[in-house]
Amino acid sequence: MKILIADIPDEGLIVDLEEELTPDEGSVTAPVISHLELMKTGTAVMISGTLSTKTALECSRCLQPFSRTLEIPVSVVYHPSEEVTAEGQPAKHALNTDEMDMGFYQDGELDLRELLSEQIMLDSEMKPLCSDLCKGICPHCGTDLNKGSCTCSKDTVDPRLEVLKKFFEKRKE
Ligand SMILES: [Zn+2]
Ligand SMILES: [Zn+2]
Repeated sequence: MKILIADIPDEGLIVDLEEELTPDEGSVTAPVISHLELMKTGTAVMISGTLSTKTALECSRCLQPFSRTLEIPVSVVYHPSEEVTAEGQPAKHALNTDEMDMGFYQDGELDLRELLSEQIMLDSEMKPLCSDLCKGICPHCGTDLNKGSCTCSKDTVDPRLEVLKKFFEKRKE
């Protein structure tokens, strides 16, 4: 959904939006439902609200696919890209928006779909885990240790304990 900046009234605009994103706009598996409040301050547009969706991930420990419900708070200020200086900063720094993400709109038009996919990208984890307690896979035989144990896991020693083991072996000599 695209919003013309000129269409945002002075008292602000509330947008309830449901957007279907394509897989390359974030690995979402459900429509993105959002509630956004748009407020103009000069040429800048402040957008706050929430978005929720479901995302398909792969656990970085056990490599199993899993899905997670995302609830992301949105807090971003958009400046017209025409006002951007060579340093990539908006020319005017009148707003105290340090806490907010920054985006740019072009030709007096704001693409909310793009905003939503950006927020989902920013929120995506580098190393997602299916569970904090995920045991991962055995580095030796590849068994998923959440589903069962393997025989080799009993013989492997924590590298930190390996040092102690060697120490005690020496003392026995
Ligand atoms: Zn896992
Ligand atoms: Zn194993």
